[in-house]
Amino acid sequence: MFWQEEVLPGVSVAFTDTSTGNLALHTGDDPDDVTRRRAALESAVGLGGERFHFMNQVHGNVVAYVDGHGGVPTADAMVSLGKPLAVMVADCVPVVLVGTSDSGRPVFGVAHAGRPGTALGIVPAAVAEMRRRGAAEIKAWVGPSICGACYEVPAEMQAEVVAAVPESSSLTSWGTPSLDLPAAVRSQLESAGVGVDHVAECTLENEALFSYRRNKNAGRFAGLVWIND
Ligand SMILES: [Zn+2]
Repeated sequence: MFWQEEVLPGVSVAFTDTSTGNLALHTGDDPDDVTRRRAALESAVGLGGERFHFMNQVHGNVVAYVDGHGGVPTADAMVSLGKPLAVMVADCVPVVLVGTSDSGRPVFGVAHAGRPGTALGIVPAAVAEMRRRGAAEIKAWVGPSICGACYEVPAEMQAEVVAAVPESSSLTSWGTPSLDLPAAVRSQLESAGVGVDHVAECTLENEALFSYRRNKNAGRFAGLVWIND
């Protein structure tokens, strides 16, 4: 596990790494191997009979509500009342959210904030859905992603995202236009009144993490939230 913490009594947040292996079914890996890895992860973190809910991520702005009865939603964020959630990434920003509610039941959220999703506001959309589901105070963990010093993009592409989120503007370490997506996500969270804890690691620079820019055949690691036993 790259990073793990019990963030509230009985509630854990974590980010996996290459030691857990690829958790995605869409990257060409053997589906049986992926399913075995997911099951091993669920058993290692003490999920009991529960399973992590994954989503079919499409770089959009749809937030799915997960009650444990649906299939795999096509969405880039999910919200649940305590159901275990997982978001997969390899350079995009994984965001894990935990909200407290008056009922005492935690409200969970995850979001996949790549370049399009950040510009579309997938993270504020997830926060809004959590509030609709009763979350009062919300805290976010922004996981490892490609950093502003590494994420070079064409100037026109940079301008499109900066128009939506000015805080995304950055330069690479070699002085060309880039995007700082974790900074953009942090500003969106702060504007939404959410406290932010940043696990500030760069996926491109750290080989313990999957990076699509480093390897087009990369697997995916995951951001996770669950009720631990
Ligand atoms: Zn970097």
